Amino acid sequence: MLLVEKYGGTSLANPERIRSAARRTAELARQGHQVVLVVSAQADTTDELIAAAARVNCHGSAREMDAYLAAGEQMSAGLVAMAVEALGHPAVSLSGWQAGIHTDGVHGNARILEVDTTRIRRELEAGKVVVAAGFQGIGPEGDVTTLGRGGSDTTAVALAAWLGADQCRIFTDVDGVYDRDPHVFPDAVRFRRIGYENMLSLIEGGAQVLHDRSVELARDHGIRVEVLSAFTGAPGTILGDLS
Ligand code: ADP
Ligand code: ASP
Ligand code: MG
Repeated sequence: MLLVEKYGGTSLANPERIRSAARRTAELARQGHQVVLVVSAQADTTDELIAAAARVNCHGSAREMDAYLAAGEQMSAGLVAMAVEALGHPAVSLSGWQAGIHTDGVHGNARILEVDTTRIRRELEAGKVVVAAGFQGIGPEGDVTTLGRGGSDTTAVALAAWLGADQCRIFTDVDGVYDRDPHVFPDAVRFRRIGYENMLSLIEGGAQVLHDRSVELARDHGIRVEVLSAFTGAPGTILGDLS
């Protein structure tokens, strides 16, 4: 099977968590699956990069902010690929443009228009685990773009859609989607399944557990997405068509 699996920043916050993601991935590859990982920047990296940029120029252009911020996910991709290699399985990290993610030219909030899957397919056919940097693509002028905060979810769903993946999983620091933020409301209730429109309403109400465009893309391409804990791997919430 072809699997797309995304790890968020907290899930890659330190070497042990990176090794844990790599172990799961290497095991799936050993079982004969083709695996495409999508990774976010580690923990608070993106916030730190934004703060660092502001210390140099608090009105930096959107183009240069994208060039700078995209590095966070690229560093993660390199690290995760090395962690998979350390387990004896070949892996290759790809930036957004290398992964064929084509976007419009709206720096800081670019929309994915198309994915050219040629390079990813070549690497998968060569037996490698592909580790794609989330949150970024290449715009019409050939410049690096970013997809908006939380955009790595959208990278994962886009890759699942254009690759025709059998499964799309989003690993995060909670064990699924709840009716309210479980970190704020201890009595929040977890959904086993949730439809696209209900998920979009939750996001509109402030639930930033998934990037809104990832849900729209999943809905438009009929992609079923599982949101689950990177720490336990226990079954999470299935986002999909409930009709
Ligand atoms: P990642 O780094 O994995 O992308 P995010 O921080 O973007 O993770 O999203 C996960 C966070 O979303 C959780 O830690 C949780 O606090 C928050 N969250 C807000 N609303 C919800 C909700 N309704 N269900 C689950 N998590 C929620
Ligand atoms: N690193 C980016 C952010 O913090 C993208 C993501 O995590 O999805 O918003
Ligand atoms: Mg997120």
